[in-house]
Amino acid sequence: MNTVICHARVIAGIVGCTALFLAATTTGAAQAHGRDLARQTLPARDGWAAATTGTTGGAAATRDRVFTVTTWAEFKAALAVEGTAPRIVKVKGTLDADGADCSDFAVPGYDFDRYLADYDPAVWGYDTDLEGEKATPGTQEYLRDQSAAAQAKAIKAAVPANTTIIGVGHGAGIVGGSLQINGVDNVIVRGLTLESPLDCFPQWDPTDGSTGNWNSEYDAAVVHNATHVWLDHNTFTDGDHPDSTLPSHYGRLFQQHDGELDVVRGADHVTASWNVFEDHDKTFMIGNSDSAGATDEGKLRVTLHHNLFRNLVERAPRVRFGQVDAYNNSYVAGDDYGYSFGIGFKSRLHAEKNAFTLPPGVGASAVLHRWSDSPLTAEGNVVNGTETDLIAAYNAANPSAPLASGAGWTPVLRMRVDPAEVVARVVGRGAGADRLR
Ligand code: CA
Ligand code: CA
Repeated sequence: MNTVICHARVIAGIVGCTALFLAATTTGAAQAHGRDLARQTLPARDGWAAATTGTTGGAAATRDRVFTVTTWAEFKAALAVEGTAPRIVKVKGTLDADGADCSDFAVPGYDFDRYLADYDPAVWGYDTDLEGEKATPGTQEYLRDQSAAAQAKAIKAAVPANTTIIGVGHGAGIVGGSLQINGVDNVIVRGLTLESPLDCFPQWDPTDGSTGNWNSEYDAAVVHNATHVWLDHNTFTDGDHPDSTLPSHYGRLFQQHDGELDVVRGADHVTASWNVFEDHDKTFMIGNSDSAGATDEGKLRVTLHHNLFRNLVERAPRVRFGQVDAYNNSYVAGDDYGYSFGIGFKSRLHAEKNAFTLPPGVGASAVLHRWSDSPLTAEGNVVNGTETDLIAAYNAANPSAPLASGAGWTPVLRMRVDPAEVVARVVGRGAGADRLR
């Protein structure tokens, strides 16, 4: 039972007396079997986030810095409470970050039907992008950009240093929000179902490809220039809005999703464990540019273990620069499967004892995708129950542009490593927001 108490510093003229609940006691999943999960820290040696100072999040928060929230406004207010002393934010129920519908964010004068008429390729063509329009007040592209800025302000939540965000009870999560873990150290996010934001205002780029593309923003979570981040037992999903429900305009999918998780721009020491990533196209990106070496070289060290990657198209993950350790993950491919591991510029992926379940007609050669000739280590992985050399399978199918074996490093920050043969079962039983116990 929560005791409602005005939080003096926050309440002063900002959010009102009922906006924040100071949790006097905890209930539900955050306090199971006598342990308060909100006060757990990342175990020693549990992946790259355990390196150097380790990851404790808000575990040591004093009682006045433990918040239980039931709305998106309360959530943002709890994150905005001043100071970087440890903080715990308990999420109860589903927080609706994106309002009733997109008209909440549209600025006066923006009219999507007019937008479609103004930039119809039959009128505008494919040779000129819309940057000039964006800079010209009164154009539909200008108004789209203004509307997008309003949405960004509403749905992005900046996560401060030394914070644990944790779901409490069944069905805790966020719909349509974007967690920004940006420029901070020591953050834990656990037990949340994060339904991908829908970009209300995708931008038409006539020059993207030969027939243009709709490009959208907002990942469910972004780790940007942040360190010691532990993402555990979350479910990343497109929920009620998979790409198959999205319309097409100008003959191109009106894409309203970006990624589920991005780890970019100097981010380092990240562990993602026991999460579900499901029903998405471009899922998980580690490093977002080949030209980001100044921030990313020697960084982007990420451990992925016991995650379930289910019914995805690509990027699970796509890696640039980083030493990434992916072990004991379960990959269950659906009809739209593209690839799982994207081997990108200067990446050093170590993929060991993962389990792949591929549908009929999809071979083991599809698991890897070569964006660059970076070497990787792939050992002890199983495909449909059979131990398979993923690099050999790839190279047999792509003899003119093979991948080299040997990432050149050996992961040491690991806890239990399961035999690949049991990974699909163990991960299927244990991964996801509602399995945090
Ligand atoms: Ca909504
Ligand atoms: Ca992104």
